[in-house]
Amino acid sequence: MNANMASPKNIDKPVSTNTVIDVERIRADFPILHQTVNNQPLVYLDNGATSQKPRVVIDAIARHYLHDNANVHRGVHELSMRSTQSYDAAREKVRSFINAADVREIVFTRGTTESINLVAASFGRNLKPGDEIILTQLEHHANIVPWQLLRNHQGIVIRVAPINDAGELILDDYIKLFNKRTRLVSVAHISNALGTVLPVKEIIDTAHQHSIPVMVDGAQAIPYMPVDVQDLDCDFYTLSGHKMYGPTGIGVLYGKSKYLEAMEPYQGGGDMILRVSFEETIYNKPPFKFEAGTPNISGAIGLGAAIDYLNNIGMNAIAAHEHSLLTYAEARIGEIPDVRIIGTAEMKSGILSFIMKGVHAHDIGTIMDKQGVAIRAGHHCAMPAMEHFGIAATARASFGLYNTHEEINALINAIHKVKQVLQR
Ligand code: PMP
Repeated sequence: MNANMASPKNIDKPVSTNTVIDVERIRADFPILHQTVNNQPLVYLDNGATSQKPRVVIDAIARHYLHDNANVHRGVHELSMRSTQSYDAAREKVRSFINAADVREIVFTRGTTESINLVAASFGRNLKPGDEIILTQLEHHANIVPWQLLRNHQGIVIRVAPINDAGELILDDYIKLFNKRTRLVSVAHISNALGTVLPVKEIIDTAHQHSIPVMVDGAQAIPYMPVDVQDLDCDFYTLSGHKMYGPTGIGVLYGKSKYLEAMEPYQGGGDMILRVSFEETIYNKPPFKFEAGTPNISGAIGLGAAIDYLNNIGMNAIAAHEHSLLTYAEARIGEIPDVRIIGTAEMKSGILSFIMKGVHAHDIGTIMDKQGVAIRAGHHCAMPAMEHFGIAATARASFGLYNTHEEINALINAIHKVKQVLQR
């Protein structure tokens, strides 16, 4: 496991201290896993793209629509009060889960993509031509393209910290990128393409020595390991509900109050204002200032249920389990000739990218699907990372808390099948 992990004692909630998880019991909570695909038992190894949902999450959303549905923050009637209470409770659950200092630092968004776009549009609005931001070569397109949009409009300069052939950030080169025009660092916590866990604490410390704020894209880290934003001391942190066993269409931007207070709203509309006249509008306080319009109420409630579920299992136990799946999978895949793992960082999450000599990644994915094994093939929205390795695509198995060592065996058997079919 890794040095950036927060210790559970820092998180002021009843966190499970489990170090092992009962996978069979967990699997029973996920109805979707119990089916056959192409006449084979489903082996779902595409969790990096999206995770499956436990019944408690599905039930929480259904309960909301069956009993409590109403708009939030506006009504005086019973249903609106219930809805508002559940929505606010979900925000508190997020706060506690990432150990933010204050619930006002938790902005609900559609997901990581929107969270990054919000910061690029709003924090970015104050950047001047020639101002610089630092990214890494590992970034997901969601942490590249919003900055390019800003570059097109405002002439900012994007600096890119390079990676080595293991897929690790070269810290010395990152440190050299700082100068007096640097305004922001925005980095992934975990690379979705390679599984590298970035040394975000060192990255943040370095930036803070230059008084530069740091945004961490936590889309892949949040379902994998404990995250404590105060311990990391990051200035912004993003997450997506659907990757952490919650619903799609809901996510979070965490931002330190001092930044959220100073930033202009991202979108205008209802709920983000205190008073409107044609002459002047007084904005609401964060987080509402950044939540224009009717929010994804059921999504937030579902996310809250997912957080309860994860807390009951324990993030340390989840990380240990997925790490053990990775170690086993890497050892077994290493036995197969002509298969190369892409991304061999010392610190890795449960993501295994690989290529096979003479075989296109998409063909690997398609043949595996025939075995019931769901993996992802492609550039994983991280084309610059692929470019570093001189490849267009990888096949990627990404593990979740409900995956088993037997499923890794199924993955390995499916890889052998691909070789049989395509390398004859
Ligand atoms: N960053 C990373 C590291 C990701 O893995 C993803 C999703 N693949 C995103 C950003 C974008 O997340 P979303 O599509 O949920 O907005």
